[in-house]
Amino acid sequence: MLSNSLAELDRRHLVHPVSSFRGHEARGVRLLQSARGAVVTDAEGRELIDGFAGLWCVNAGYGHESVVEAAAAQMRQLPYATGYFDLGAEAPIRLAAELAERAPGDLDHVYFCLGGSDAVDSTIRFIRYYWHSRGKPRRDQFISVGQGYHGSASGGAGLTALPVFHEGFGLPYDWQHKISSHYIYRNPVGQDPQAIIDASLAELRAKLAEIGEDRVAAFYVEPIQGSGGVLVPPQGWIKAMRDLCAEHEILFVADEVITGFGRTGPLFACEDEGIVPDLMTVAKGLTSGYVPMGAVFMRNHVYETIAEGAGAKAVGHGFTYSAHPVSSAVALEVLALYEGGLFENGRRMGARLMEGLAGLRDHPLVGDVRGRGMLAAVELVTDKHNKTPLPAALDPANRLFDRAWEQGLIVRSFAQGILGYAPPLCCTADEIDAIVERSRKVLDLTLEDPEIREVLRG
Ligand code: PLP
Repeated sequence: MLSNSLAELDRRHLVHPVSSFRGHEARGVRLLQSARGAVVTDAEGRELIDGFAGLWCVNAGYGHESVVEAAAAQMRQLPYATGYFDLGAEAPIRLAAELAERAPGDLDHVYFCLGGSDAVDSTIRFIRYYWHSRGKPRRDQFISVGQGYHGSASGGAGLTALPVFHEGFGLPYDWQHKISSHYIYRNPVGQDPQAIIDASLAELRAKLAEIGEDRVAAFYVEPIQGSGGVLVPPQGWIKAMRDLCAEHEILFVADEVITGFGRTGPLFACEDEGIVPDLMTVAKGLTSGYVPMGAVFMRNHVYETIAEGAGAKAVGHGFTYSAHPVSSAVALEVLALYEGGLFENGRRMGARLMEGLAGLRDHPLVGDVRGRGMLAAVELVTDKHNKTPLPAALDPANRLFDRAWEQGLIVRSFAQGILGYAPPLCCTADEIDAIVERSRKVLDLTLEDPEIREVLRG
């Protein structure tokens, strides 16, 4: 009863993020009631394994009492403190110091915000200010990568390369440019890593020539592209792009909103690539989704240039909730949990997940399996040879999500017919195995689906 009336209230009043308003009205809400570890319980009492950690964010898993305690203690003592007027609180200062100590290279300066979207938009503002401070305000053009996602605040949504974030929103802006994704499985130059790296370098060089290299402010990458379908670049791709940017003094921004905090193994995925970006964005795993928070890391030279440029003037960027003490207290506790064993468990479970999913390659509908650590994808096709995607008219995203839900599994299902995985790092071996087994069942049921069979026959 309760859930029925909530469903009705939801339909009438709650605007859901990145959803078809009409589609959601028709389908209604799936109410979640509670969660513990890697398992969520819905309003009917059904338990499901959360193979996507909420929205790739609950890296530590649900139900950590120590996190609840940390938030409650901070709320009791000092629920809010602004960073304006030279004020501050202990938790954000400690958090900035702990993170700076662990971040690659001299990414020593941390600006805290509310999530990934405003972290990305903050980088755009800091970068504009940086070039202004260097007396080069015409360095105002930004480049990002096809299939990329950088949030849905206006600046980042324009850097994003997924049409649904542009159409009808007047995006991208004319100062935002793209080069093609490295998308190994569907790359026009084939799957050879060096050929893909060479093609991307050539494209970036051509883009610099087209825009004017003295006009380019920054280049944005995700160490692994998330919302574009979990696309892992060839080994060395990030480093090659980073080196080319350094050659032309272009700031290199690593958007680690998904890949940070143990998702791919190390604390930050950049560590695996052996690079130090000029700026880095994080969110999600920073607080493991218990409360909102994001952050921008800046290397010393970026911070110093901005500081010198501003002199005694205020750098006019900041929010009421910048460096929120409660979010900071949560992030500190989550970091302690990660380092107290969750990162280690995540690395072991990540290897198990990748091995298990690789076992699905023999399935008639599976075209590609890819990922690193606890971040993975299975791409479905109706014809392995031609790599034909599931027809968009069959709405693969909702179809696959429904099949998985029926099996007691939550996964991301992308519009192109890709299953995405980002389980909490606390998963047990049994839970990882169940994710893989239930995924196979989802594939089998999809294969038996009369409308899919029709396509396969055609
Ligand atoms: N950047 C990347 C790489 C992301 O994946 C996301 C969200 O998924 C964002 C930015 C935006 O973060 P948020 O949804 O916290 O605003």
